Amino acid sequence: ISESRVADTWTRTTCGYCSVGCGMLVGTKDGHPVAARGNPDHPVNRGKLCPKGLSEHLMVESPGRATTPLYRRGGRGTQLEPISWDEALDLMTSRIGSIQQRFGNNALGVISTGQLLTEEFYTLGKLVQLGFGTRNYDGNTTLCMASAVSGYKLSFGSDGPPGAYADLETADVVLLIGANIADNHPILCNRLRKRPGQVLIVADPRVTKTAMMADLHLPVKPRSDIALLNGIAHILLRDGLIDRAYIDAHAEGFEAFVEFAADFTPEAVSATTGLSTETLEHVAHLYGRASSAFIGWTMGVNHSTQGAVTVAAINNLAILTGNIGRTGGAPFSITGQCNAMGSRESSFTSALPGYRRFENAQDRRDLAGIWNVSEDSLPTARGLAYPDIIEAAVKGQIKALWIIATNPVVSFPNLKLLEQAFESTEFVVVQDGFYPTPTMDYADLVLPAAIWGEKEGTYTNSERRISKVNAFAVPPGEARRDFDIFLALAERLGAKGSLFLGWSSTHDAWLEWQRVSAGRLCDYSSFTWQQIEEQGGAQWGGDRLYRDGIFPRENGRALLHRVPCLPFVEQPDHEFDLILNTGRTVEHWHTRTKTGAVAMLDAMQPNAWLEMNPADAERLSLSQHDRVTVCSRRSSVRNVELRITGIVAPGQVFMPFHFAEQNSNLVTLGAFDPISREPNYKQCAVRVERTR
Ligand code: SF4
Repeated sequence: ISESRVADTWTRTTCGYCSVGCGMLVGTKDGHPVAARGNPDHPVNRGKLCPKGLSEHLMVESPGRATTPLYRRGGRGTQLEPISWDEALDLMTSRIGSIQQRFGNNALGVISTGQLLTEEFYTLGKLVQLGFGTRNYDGNTTLCMASAVSGYKLSFGSDGPPGAYADLETADVVLLIGANIADNHPILCNRLRKRPGQVLIVADPRVTKTAMMADLHLPVKPRSDIALLNGIAHILLRDGLIDRAYIDAHAEGFEAFVEFAADFTPEAVSATTGLSTETLEHVAHLYGRASSAFIGWTMGVNHSTQGAVTVAAINNLAILTGNIGRTGGAPFSITGQCNAMGSRESSFTSALPGYRRFENAQDRRDLAGIWNVSEDSLPTARGLAYPDIIEAAVKGQIKALWIIATNPVVSFPNLKLLEQAFESTEFVVVQDGFYPTPTMDYADLVLPAAIWGEKEGTYTNSERRISKVNAFAVPPGEARRDFDIFLALAERLGAKGSLFLGWSSTHDAWLEWQRVSAGRLCDYSSFTWQQIEEQGGAQWGGDRLYRDGIFPRENGRALLHRVPCLPFVEQPDHEFDLILNTGRTVEHWHTRTKTGAVAMLDAMQPNAWLEMNPADAERLSLSQHDRVTVCSRRSSVRNVELRITGIVAPGQVFMPFHFAEQNSNLVTLGAFDPISREPNYKQCAVRVERTR
């Protein structure tokens, strides 16, 4: 390393990619980031970082950073041209104002992200609801963890993962369902297998790296997870492997559930899942006899038209065995983005800030009192969810879209619908730290934003740990921090004095958010930024929720749900004979807006590929590394490298979704969970042929 690359300053911060929330030290030399290492004192990662974290500082000064506002002065079909911030903010408020005057306030749809600071989510929620006055605000978090939120609410009455990462180390049995944490949450994966004798079971249709680590891999058929969970419940009940005292004291719905689960015999479940009856018995007995059992899940569960109820079926097992609120026992949603949890708690998307319920008059009164606004100014029901905002735009009900730190042209299922939505709108604003992104092709106005490394505030990770995020660089060119953009817009709307009186920094937002969250399940009020930074974060709610067995439902009891097992929406047929599963790689993040800008990550995994079982390749006369086209009823993806491998079962293929050039979301299905509104990214019917 040349002397010019040796850091003269180290800044403590938290990784801005995934929800593991690793503590980092970023080294700068003369104000430029030159190195990153894991913070050895941080309790989450204890000095380790994955390839994304280790190279995250390189992203900050990478080419392609957005540096100036852009506007399509000549209208759509013309070039984006640089303009001043004053003009950009005037244009944004005047054009949105004109649309709202003609079509009503809810004609503005706002789609944000899980990447902002909690302080920014809190500010944005207030600005959107009370400044712009639209209810139609949601995050791309609906594309990844809305099912977990809804499932927790169904069973326990509130969102909030009850467990902690330490449970992965202490549990007797860890059951991971649809969770390839070796690729997607690599540093969390490090915490598995620390305890001699711990049994790791992984249910996944694909032989993922996580499955390779398991004592027992359950290669379930696609979307047979509900049958598996109900089948385990059946055996637990049949063999008396339940905690009857816990159920009697803390649950409801037991008798009805027993009756329901009677149908899920090992024989019936074996036919649905493809697992042998012996395996099912073995898994249920391992789980039921464990003194502590942990179930973790991610997108394999959430990305489904039955995602929310699948989460409830997972929670059922934890309720039946009393594996909640105790060391090593938890039903645990491993979240996606670095601050998806912060957005869940502090913004207006799936609940009012502080997990207050839209429909609860006392919750609204309480919040209106803190904010000194009229109760009527708070919505009594949530606005449209992300896919419904897109659909409303297609129908002409939403006329303006404000898209913040997300890239739906690559990440939204069914690109055609999204294109129609853009065409039907009058005004699209894209706010991002990089340009151009594929979504900017449809933007009328682009706002350049600061990114991780240039902002100060907090993120909250999957185990509810609030960690400090610090700036070590200044935003490039004229890029502004999202928080400053929100305040400038509030000023333009004449709402700064009423909503954000005296605010100038994210710390002002933090102080108000502490008051708003005080006394709620997600209570931030007892922490200071300094404590959080020095201690490597702090978990709201303590290390585990519901230790006392009292749940935030009206009667204080957790609910056992009867979850039917439905076939997935698009079954293969003679024309589209394979089931496509999509997922991630360890090197990349979402649509590669950030990781694609880091040369070393790009070089490690520059293109998409398609995994296919040797039996299917032989049937289709395809050879290793052939270039293939993946076709569905929607569209096709051309020129994808074929990898013939036993990692996928016959009849199934897998493709990573990160790549704009080979976008798997051209072919995925725009079908959504009716409760959470999360897309069914994980299964659709496709045909594969050699690219001509
Ligand atoms: Fe960052 Fe997640 Fe990797 Fe940790 S595991 S370094 S939080 S991307």
